[in-house]
Amino acid sequence: MQVVTRFPPSPTGYLHLGGARTALFNWLFARNAGGKLVFRIEDTDRQRSTDEAIDAIISAMEWLGLDWDEGPYYQTQRLDRYKEVVQQLLDQGDAYYCSCTPDRLEKLRNDQREKGIKPRYDGHCRDIGLERKAGENHVIRFKNPLSGSVSFNDRIHGLVSVQNEELDDLVLERSDGMPTYNLTVVADDMDMNVSHVIRGDDHINNTFRQINIFRALGHDLPEFAHVPLILGSDRKRLSKRNGDVSVLDYRDRGILPEALVNYLVRLGWSHGDQEIFSREEMIRYFDLQQVNKSSAGFDMEKLLWLNRHYIGQSSIETLLSEVQKIMVTRQIDTENGPDLRSAMGLVQGRVSTLVDLADQIEYFYRPIEQYDAGALSKHCNESTSGLLRGISSVFSHIEPWTQESVGNALKTYVKSKGVKFPGLAQPLRIAVSGSDQTPSIDSTLALLGSMETIKRARMFIDYLEQGK
Ligand code: GLU
Repeated sequence: MQVVTRFPPSPTGYLHLGGARTALFNWLFARNAGGKLVFRIEDTDRQRSTDEAIDAIISAMEWLGLDWDEGPYYQTQRLDRYKEVVQQLLDQGDAYYCSCTPDRLEKLRNDQREKGIKPRYDGHCRDIGLERKAGENHVIRFKNPLSGSVSFNDRIHGLVSVQNEELDDLVLERSDGMPTYNLTVVADDMDMNVSHVIRGDDHINNTFRQINIFRALGHDLPEFAHVPLILGSDRKRLSKRNGDVSVLDYRDRGILPEALVNYLVRLGWSHGDQEIFSREEMIRYFDLQQVNKSSAGFDMEKLLWLNRHYIGQSSIETLLSEVQKIMVTRQIDTENGPDLRSAMGLVQGRVSTLVDLADQIEYFYRPIEQYDAGALSKHCNESTSGLLRGISSVFSHIEPWTQESVGNALKTYVKSKGVKFPGLAQPLRIAVSGSDQTPSIDSTLALLGSMETIKRARMFIDYLEQGK
């Protein structure tokens, strides 16, 4: 049997972390088995589906590097096929027209609630043999079996079952002629030869219903694997506040796709205690047995830790265009300063996101407008401007201007003045960057260049002396 998995998002919003992890697990399972991933857009909810959401989901999949083998299929282009399947169920006596009005259904629900029973359709039209009448509002319902139970062996949760009495006759086609989710999913999974349905465990209750429809259509069941939901850092349902933002927002925050994919694969799945996986390793090791039964909590710190790892080991070339984009949005002209690649190399091992990286090198390309107040009071005193004057004059004679020559000059100068190295290095950092947080001072100044270093030192001396 060929393994065929599917990723069928509803384009009513962006691709969030939970959806991305579902896509990833389906992709990994298919790639591991040498099978196929089908990409399907479940856009039958016309009011809430948008083209922007479709584009955003596709961009997010591409950014994550999750490619598909078939599709995207659009459910709105398969409406005739759904009609056919509904007609088959009607012809077989497994579906029926229902003309219950919304008022009746509401009253029914209220009565049931009052009696403390779970609200469900009471089968009022099930056996009265209604025909479709022009001008009348009908829905078409599935004739769910009245007795017995539905069970399946979930690849993650094991055997799960429900009594048919618990399930009511769900609507297959609405009064406007649109099919419902449970019908379209069965028709598609059947037609697209899906062998494994891997999705969030919030769908388990739908699976029971879908199994009954599969059976009524005489079709073999796919395997099912329901993945526990991702919870927020506070163990509550993931929301915007505790981590659930669009996948593309993580890109805009300077997270690398490798880091996010590595983070997501470990969210609920493990392979021994390995934390860092190349794509090849993920594909090789992925299996559903090692997916946890309980929900995983989102942990931003861990994502940042992974991102730091991936930034540290990436080539500058692969990071360059993203950093350039960030600089463009900040209107920073990186032609106006040292080579961007060299500046990136200086801080590459010290940052957790590409946004941090941009923050930490931005000062090379723009004038210093402000000095950090905390750094000033910590590192500057009445002798600072004198020291800076002295070192500026030393700097003006250094030739060639290299990390080594600058480093040697700084060491010799502090020795001659009898001050500790940080007593000079920290004010210099503030002078050239505005803060005391730069990489080693010799490498920073070497990259900035002698003219710019001296210019910034002078400006800072003026600032200190005016402030006196
Ligand atoms: N469109 C459904 C969703 O986004 C798909 C669920 C499924 O995998 O069947 O939740």
